[in-house]
Amino acid sequence: MNLLKKAKFLTSVAKLEQMLADKGFEVAFAGRSNCGKSSLINAITEQGKLAKTSKTPGRTQMINFFELDDRNRLVDLPGYGFAKVKEDMRMYWQALIEGYLQERNSLKGVVLINDIRHPLKDSDRQMLEWSIHFKIPALVVLNKSDKLTRNQINQAIQFVRKETKGEDIDIVATSAMRKAGLEEVHDWIVERLDLSE
Ligand code: GDP
Repeated sequence: MNLLKKAKFLTSVAKLEQMLADKGFEVAFAGRSNCGKSSLINAITEQGKLAKTSKTPGRTQMINFFELDDRNRLVDLPGYGFAKVKEDMRMYWQALIEGYLQERNSLKGVVLINDIRHPLKDSDRQMLEWSIHFKIPALVVLNKSDKLTRNQINQAIQFVRKETKGEDIDIVATSAMRKAGLEEVHDWIVERLDLSE
């Protein structure tokens, strides 16, 4: 049964001061722009437009909250790694995301989405370093697995496993497009929340 299907858009915030009350349980999604973060959120919640795949300008730089029930939430963090973004914007995102990971007690897990063809870019490594530092379990999702052969998928998983050895980091390959690997992502998230059927 899909326990994430009941996700409903709650609110978007642009600043840490605007954040919702820090209670209950949440799992956040992060990733470079174009990794398929919106597609993956839509696929695991079985809602075509929950996270807008056609990006609404403005919204993409905000932290978007989705409610599962009165105690549990999913959180869509702003995508990072745009080549054209100015340095001050980059610094702003960095401070927003780092601040969120640092101070959010209800944050119980981070799902870090990568394009499986380009795993662990600098900004992804930064995200993982913060999760390790602030002791938040992380799941590295290697998305767009439909673009690679079984062998190449295994190589990408091995690469990430080697690079994250000894840390509280899990790895899964997915295809949001083909709906592959989604159950593992669902189960990982549900384990970190406090949901009942
Ligand atoms: P976001 O910027 O990380 O939110 O990424 P989107 O969800 O908007 O996806 C970016 C592009 O990658 C879109 O063209 C999607 O159709 C495509 N995409 C997303 N997931 C997959 C996938 O699993 N396989 C393939 N082949 N394309 C995907």
